[in-house]
Amino acid sequence: MAGSPGSSGLVLVLNSGSSSVKYALVDPDTGERPLSGQAENIGTSGGSHHDAITRILDHLDDNGHVDLAGAGHRVVHGGERFSDSVLVDDEVLDAIRSFSHLAPLHNPANLAGIEAVAQARPGLPQVAVFDTAFHQTMPPAAYRYAVPGEWYTRHAVRRYGFHGTSYRFVSERAATLLGHPSAGHPSAGHPSAVLRLVVAHLGNGCSAAAISGGRSVDTTMGLTPMEGLVMGTRSGDVDPGLLGYLAEQTGRSAADLTDALDTRSGLLGLSGASNDMRTISEAAERGDERARLALDVFVHRLAKAIAGLAASLGGLDALVFTAGIGENSVLVRSRVLARLGFLGLAEDPAANAAHGRTAGGRISRPGPVQALVVPTDEELMIARDTARLVAAPR
Ligand code: ADP
Repeated sequence: MAGSPGSSGLVLVLNSGSSSVKYALVDPDTGERPLSGQAENIGTSGGSHHDAITRILDHLDDNGHVDLAGAGHRVVHGGERFSDSVLVDDEVLDAIRSFSHLAPLHNPANLAGIEAVAQARPGLPQVAVFDTAFHQTMPPAAYRYAVPGEWYTRHAVRRYGFHGTSYRFVSERAATLLGHPSAGHPSAGHPSAVLRLVVAHLGNGCSAAAISGGRSVDTTMGLTPMEGLVMGTRSGDVDPGLLGYLAEQTGRSAADLTDALDTRSGLLGLSGASNDMRTISEAAERGDERARLALDVFVHRLAKAIAGLAASLGGLDALVFTAGIGENSVLVRSRVLARLGFLGLAEDPAANAAHGRTAGGRISRPGPVQALVVPTDEELMIARDTARLVAAPR
């Protein structure tokens, strides 16, 4: 029947943040979304997470979506414990809570969302899908920092990486587009070929990952989402000596300086005008020097990181762009490809100009290394994981 849910049933996908709850009702088989929206102003006029989730579930009921297959939640930090999505039980809730110190802005809000659904719909299966899980395959050489050992053993200081749900979706789709089944694992059709991808997830937060045969082997984000690439408001990599230097020069606290690196740096800090790549690109085009510099630093650092990740892979088969900037900015893609010609990448300008958020596809000329645009869909990945785990024998 047209528009009816597939055999798995509909999944409620929830992204519970500190001030908003985004939701979508997703058919995991077809990707259709009969309902979606956002509850805002949590903690103030929008009430608690519980209030918001109750309103969302009432809205689903009012629209005849009473029977759900399950609820899938985005959870930011799964520490070293979770390398895959998981059905939520009390022990899983405790584990997520135990990682709250690693993601103090996110995990408590994610937990509040899960607890609110449990109260409003006792018995509805719930699944936690972690941003960090996909990167648990990184080897120690990629995830350890060269710092005193007890920082790792006592304080869990290591590189975790984020955007994992997006990387999983995009790398599987890219493998299919490139004719590599099973996300690029070696197979009968490709006996020796482990597909080596660098995926650049460029949204408000930006990171890139090295993915070999469908497994993450390196990524640019670390202990927190502040490491790595230049982002909308985050600095990405800086000299760690900068914090002590500025604390001494200005008398400001570590928390204050960290906040400036998180919320007043990146494209915003460099341009002095905006964290939005559209605004930066338009201003740079008009000749605004600070916007030009912001764009130059963004592209310089991105190209350098991609080349570093290619080294982590021991070679590169394809570079994949995704998320807001990756899917939409012809300019950023073009400039990055121009910088990476030495790796074997060559832009097809007509294809690059043609591919946007809805299309996706190849943007390189034929050559040893392909470049692709692949629109990401974290909601669909969460819905699929939820359907899979709800259906699995327990
Ligand atoms: P989030 O990380 O919050 O999910 P998105 O993936 O939607 O965000 O990415 C948002 C960013 O995408 C915006 O900050 C903007 O800079 C960028 N963006 C969106 N559309 C365009 C465009 N047409 N050209 C350049 N950048 C764009």
